[in-house]
Parts: sequence; C-alpha cells; structure tokens
Amino acid sequence: MFVLEYKLRGKESQFRAIDEAIRTVQFVRNKCLRYWQDNRGVGQKDIYKHVTALRKEFSFVKDLNSTACQQACERTWTAILKFYNNCKNNIPGKKTGDINAWGFPRRRALGYPKYSKRTRSVEFKKSGWKLNRNAKKITFTDGKNIGELKLIGSRDLYYFQEWQIQRIRIVRRADGYFVQLMLKLDIRDITPQLEPTKKCVAIDVGLKYFYADSNGETIDCPKYYRKSEKRLNKLNRRKSRKFNKGRGLQGAEVNSAHSPSQKQSNNYIKARKKYAKKHLKVSRQREEFAKEKALRLIQSNDLVAYEDLKVKNLVRNKKLAKSINDTAWSLLRKWIEYFGLKYGRLTIAVPPHYTTSDCPSCGKRVKKSLSTRTHVCDCGIPVLDRDYAASLNILKKATQGHWGSWSEQLDLNAWGDRASILVGSNTCQGKLSQ
Ligand SMILES: [Zn+2]
Repeated sequence: MFVLEYKLRGKESQFRAIDEAIRTVQFVRNKCLRYWQDNRGVGQKDIYKHVTALRKEFSFVKDLNSTACQQACERTWTAILKFYNNCKNNIPGKKTGDINAWGFPRRRALGYPKYSKRTRSVEFKKSGWKLNRNAKKITFTDGKNIGELKLIGSRDLYYFQEWQIQRIRIVRRADGYFVQLMLKLDIRDITPQLEPTKKCVAIDVGLKYFYADSNGETIDCPKYYRKSEKRLNKLNRRKSRKFNKGRGLQGAEVNSAHSPSQKQSNNYIKARKKYAKKHLKVSRQREEFAKEKALRLIQSNDLVAYEDLKVKNLVRNKKLAKSINDTAWSLLRKWIEYFGLKYGRLTIAVPPHYTTSDCPSCGKRVKKSLSTRTHVCDCGIPVLDRDYAASLNILKKATQGHWGSWSEQLDLNAWGDRASILVGSNTCQGKLSQ
C-alpha cells in the first residue's frame, strides 16, 4: 500500500460537513462495539447486519456513503479481533478494578476495544468520491454534502491509474484537513533500483547517540528534540490548568451523551489547540529526521542490520523512557524497512540478547552497567565505545556464518578500519546472493 497525502482546501461549511461525517463514523463504531459487548457470540456478519439496521434507523447514518460505514465497521472488527488474539496469547493488560475469586485484581487481556471519543478520520472505498486529476480536485458525493475540495501538495496525480486507488481517507489534524489516497502500488515498480554498494552496516540505537554504526560513526540526537519537549510540557501544563473538571470532557465537540452538556472554557480550547499543533510539529520533525537518516543508511549500504527491540518493554523503565521516545527508534526502524523494500536492500533485525555485553572480538561476555560507556576486554582489543562494540556484534549476528575468520585477521592497529574492510570484502556477498 502506497499513501499519497494532500492538504484539503475548501470552505468552512465543507469542513463542518467533514466533521459531521467523522462524527457519524464514530457513532457507527461505538454502536457496533456496544452491540458486540451486549450480545454474546457476535461475529463479523452480525455486526455488518447491525450496520444495515443502523442505516435504516438513523438518517444521518444513511447519509454517509455505504463503503465508509462498512469501513468504520471493519475497523471496529479489526480491533475486536486484535483483542481476541491477545486473549488467546494471554497478553495481560490493565487491571479492571474487579477482584477475582482468589482475591486478586482481575486483568483483562491487553487491548480491550475502547469506545472512541475523538475519531479523526473517515475512510471511503471505491465509491462516494470522484477525483479530478487535471484540476487536482476531489469531490465527495455522498449525503454529507462535503462537495468539491482542492488538493494542496506537490506530488502530481498522474503516475497511477484510477483503479489502483483502494481507499480514500480524510484525516482531521490540529492544523487542518488532509486527504490520503491509498494506492495499490508496488513501490519497487516506480523506484529506480540502486547499484550495489558492497557495503554492510549495523546500527545500535543508544541513549547517548541517536545511533552508532559499525563504521565507528555516530549520529547525535538533534538538539531541537529537547527544546521542543520543554515547550511541549509547558503547553501541556497550561492546558491542564485551564481544564474544568466539572464540565464536559470534549471541549468544543460536545455531542456525546456521556459528558455533561457544559463546554470547557474558550481558554481551555485555545490551549488545547495550541498544544495539539505543537505536538504535530514535533512529531513531523521526528519523522523527517528519522526518514532522512534511514534513507541515507539504505542508499549507501546493501545490508542494514539493527536490533529487534521491543520498544514497549524498554519504555517500561521510566528512567530510559524519555530518551528512548526521544530518539524515536521505532520511527527509524520503520523508515529503514520501508526504504529497504523500496530500493531492494536487505534489512535484518537481529535478536538483541547480549549485543551490548559480548566482546565483538573473542565473544566473551563482559557485563556492563548502563553508565559504563566503554567496552574493555582482556583478549587484547583496544577499548571501544560501548555502542560501537554493540553495533559490531549486531553486524556479526546479521552476517553470521559469512564472517569468515575475521577475528584471526585482527590487526589491532587497523581496528578503526576493521568493519569497513571486512564487510567490503566478499564476506557479506554470500549472504546477499542467497
Ligand atoms: Zn574479547
């Protein structure tokens, strides 16, 4: 799936119509969920039938394009399925507040589907819209009267066929409305393939750096991360101060039966918007940074290896959490894998066990605390930076069996060129051609 995104330009009334469509999506989702909760053994088909009934009962549901209704329902079902899977695999989630027969707090499986309070998108399938490629405009034709909107964005609309559009999604963000065209398109078909570089690299994402690679290079975290985080916290506090507990939760968009009818103050709404905008800006900055670094890694190497980290487990350690989120590991990985696929490069995630403790030369396990920044081993290799040593281990794991007798060739004086010499030779070629 390939996603093209454009900002939408239109009249205020059109955006209100989009809001209304999004509200309907939320209504359908929550109704489906309620139906599933209230009736035992409800399957996917029953939920579909329920949506048909909803369309008969409520005219505003009928106004929404039928594929958009379907999509809302499908997404709810996906959430339910995910929960069922977690049940099957015994992944425990939050405590429910109940006490079980043995006197322990009962835990539900992770990911019990939630009622959504702030849906932000509506998704159409093959009907309900019309694209005008010449004028770069899109028209929504269902009963919600959204009408014709202009697409703002530099990407042109001509390198795909109309049938390749699988879905169209309108997304509401803090700074406007966007449309995403989801195309059935193999990115490899439209991407010029790169020449082999005969180079491999492994990266170790750490706390001190954004990452350290097996060529001995390190990339620092951009400074603006910290700065914008401070600003973000400040805006968040300001927002919280203006929140009135006695009033409805939803601020401007009060329409739920659960919240009291009184709205939050305008100042709260303003503060919330400001916070949301900043948040969006920061997340875009992170995305851009990760994207740029990932692209560079992929373009200059045939193989990129990294640790298969479960960020979820790591974030549990509170002290680390900030830096880990900051360095946006999962973003980097996502983009490495994306560009890897796009340009036909190999990306390998290796199990993360002992990559920081093992000696990259003799394999001996050298335990280190988090504050130890260097790797020292009595086998005679020079003192290495901890993250550099880890990246060598990762590369070793990724190219296992094709590494040759590299530790025997070890020339201590030339350690700095070590990795590049080795991986540049035919040791990693064997792996690649498999
Ligand atoms: Zn050693």
